[in-house]
Amino acid sequence: MGEKTAHQKIALVTGANKGIGRGIVEQLAALGMTVLVGARDPRRGEETAAAVRAAGGDAHAVTLDVTDQADVQEAAKQVEERFGYLDVLINNAGITGSGQVAPDEAHDQVPSSVDLAMVRAVFETNVFGVIAVTNAMLPLLRRSPAPRVVNVSSHAASLTLTSDPDGPFAVLLPSAAYSPSKSALTALTVQYANELRKDGVLVNAVAPGFVATDSNNHTGFLTAAQGAAAVVRLATLGADGPTAGFFSEEGSVPW
Ligand code: NAP
Repeated sequence: MGEKTAHQKIALVTGANKGIGRGIVEQLAALGMTVLVGARDPRRGEETAAAVRAAGGDAHAVTLDVTDQADVQEAAKQVEERFGYLDVLINNAGITGSGQVAPDEAHDQVPSSVDLAMVRAVFETNVFGVIAVTNAMLPLLRRSPAPRVVNVSSHAASLTLTSDPDGPFAVLLPSAAYSPSKSALTALTVQYANELRKDGVLVNAVAPGFVATDSNNHTGFLTAAQGAAAVVRLATLGADGPTAGFFSEEGSVPW
C-alpha cells in the first residue's frame, strides 16, 4: 500500500515584506507552512523570504502589487504551476493614504476637504485589491482540504466603535478614506463568507490592534508579532471554526 504523504500547507500573504505582514509570514513559516511572500518590490520580497529561510522556514517571494491585475494573474499562475493549490490567503496589503503619520495627524483624511484621488487610491488597494487577489486565488483555495481567508481590517472599520462620541476612537480624526475602506473590507468579508460557507472556505476579518509599523510612523504600542498573532489564529482555524466574523485578540469586534 502506498504511504499517505502529509498535506503541505501553502499560504500566501500580501504586503508581506514588512510590518504585520512580515510578522504573519514568520509565524506561519514557524508552524511549518510553505509561505509565499507577496511584495510589490521583488527585491524586498526576496529579502524577507531569504530571512525566513535562514531561520529554518520555507518561504518564497512572489511579486504582487494587489492593484496590478497582471501581477495578480501571474501570481496565481505561479502558485498553480509550482504547488497546484493554496490553503491560506491573507489579504494584508493596505495603505492609509496619508503616508507615514500617526493616526491623529492624518488631517488629509478629513471628509469635507479630502482629495478624492486619495480616497480612490486607498479603496483600490484596501478593497478592490482584495477582490482581485481573492478571486484569482479561489480556484486554488478550493483545492485545499481546509481553505482559510483572512482579511486584515482594523478597529477603525467598526461603525459601532467609531460612531460613539464618548468611545475610545473619538480621539481619531474623521476619515473619509482609510476607515471607510476597512469598513468596506469587513462588509466584503461577510459577503465572501456567505458565498463560500457551503464550500468549507472560512473567511474572517481581523483587527490586529495598534501596531508599531511604518503605516503609523511607529506610534503603535504592539509589536508586529503581537499584531500578527490574531491573524495567524484565524488562518489556522479548525473545521468547526467561525466564518463571516470580525475578531481581534480580545475576541469579537463589533461591526
Ligand atoms: P506597513 O508596515 O506599511 O505594511 C504595509 C504592507 O502593504 C507593505 O508590505 C506594503 O508594501 C504593502 N502594500 C501597500 N500597497 C500595496 C499594494 N498595492 N500591493 C501590494 N502590497 C502593498 O503597514 P502595516 O501596519 O503592517 O499594515 C498591514 C495591514 O494591517 C494593513 O492592511 C493595515 O491597514 C492593517 N492595520 C494596521 C494597523 C497598525 O496599527 N499598524 C492597525 C489596523 C490595521 P511596500 O513595502 O511596497 O510599501
